[in-house]
Amino acid sequence: MPAAAPRVLIVEDEPALARGLAEALRFQGYEVDLAEDGPSGYAAAKRGPVDVLILDVMLPGASGFDVIRRLRGEGHRVPTIMLTARGAEADRVRGLEGGADDYVTKPFSLAEVIARVGAQLRRARMDRGDGERFACDGVDFDLGRLLAKRGEAEIPLTPREGEILRYLRSRAGNVVTRDEFLLKVWMYKSAAVETRTVDNTLAALRKKIERDPADPAIVLTVRGAGYRWGGA
Ligand code: CA
Repeated sequence: MPAAAPRVLIVEDEPALARGLAEALRFQGYEVDLAEDGPSGYAAAKRGPVDVLILDVMLPGASGFDVIRRLRGEGHRVPTIMLTARGAEADRVRGLEGGADDYVTKPFSLAEVIARVGAQLRRARMDRGDGERFACDGVDFDLGRLLAKRGEAEIPLTPREGEILRYLRSRAGNVVTRDEFLLKVWMYKSAAVETRTVDNTLAALRKKIERDPADPAIVLTVRGAGYRWGGA
């Protein structure tokens, strides 16, 4: 944890849930602010400073979707985790399309949310360039220079491949679905685009960086679900 504790803003109208989350995050060393409806959540996020925003979907005044769309529309890049209801698959997509970075489905465990907050902070640091150089399975990556090296062999990467690796690693420990790749890396607003595009691009990337593309160690396949980062 850096010297200045990261600040988390929780926008949630269920008091018990908000309190529980706040307590758990404070216990981890975060500074926590609370808002209990859409308009005050929007105002608090805009005012800042906020390092991670936890945003419920169903809120009085304005929905979480409205809040994130408005913030993104005004250029606010705060990493945002949406709290979506179980079974509301459409909310997940809608949240990601609106500009959210991640989502957690209710009911969730506090440990899960804490892990996601940590992942968002890591990702934000990576976006600032602190995490552009890393190694996995004997390959040294330098995403700033779009270069991978296995031993003495230099492997040039395309910007898209760099984005894929950056995104996959920022979600370490989670499965990244093809739809999510399309939304977050290809920036397609609709998942109607062939998800095969994702598979083909990842297959080409594997051919370049994996020791054995048929038995990958860096870009893992999660059968029937998507992909996962193979490193820590
Ligand atoms: Ca709610």
